[in-house]
Amino acid sequence: MHCPYCNAMDAKVIDSRLAAEGSQVRRRRQCVECGERFTTFEVVEVVMPRIIKVNGRIEPYDHAKLKRSIALPLQKRPVSLDEMEAMISRIEQKLRHTGEREISSKMLGEIVMSELKAVDDVAYVRFASVYRDFQDIAAFQAELANFQPLSKSKD
Ligand SMILES: [Zn+2]
Repeated sequence: MHCPYCNAMDAKVIDSRLAAEGSQVRRRRQCVECGERFTTFEVVEVVMPRIIKVNGRIEPYDHAKLKRSIALPLQKRPVSLDEMEAMISRIEQKLRHTGEREISSKMLGEIVMSELKAVDDVAYVRFASVYRDFQDIAAFQAELANFQPLSKSKD
């Protein structure tokens, strides 16, 4: 880290403490050349894998996009915003835990589906019908058949 005053490369740490409720480390440093003091903050870099789309394009992971694609099938379902946020956190944790730099959108879809399935069957089927590559119609129908008791209504 260059000294912001004289641009020297060498600065010693004179104090180190946690900041922002433990999510940052605040370090007080002193330049060994000019003696000026300055502060640096360290935060954990949260690395999300990039997403390889079906067409082969690679995109950065998009939190807002995931949120939208989960909010949609959950419309009018008895799932609170808190539950939805918790679900998104779990999905992102799983993505980080893959340890991969890049994962396929298919894999992301599978993770989302497994989370939705655990929370709300109807939202799961709605999501699956859009996101799974249902070129295999029989597979989709089999999927739906599993949820027949839920999808049947009197009207
Ligand atoms: Zn300096």
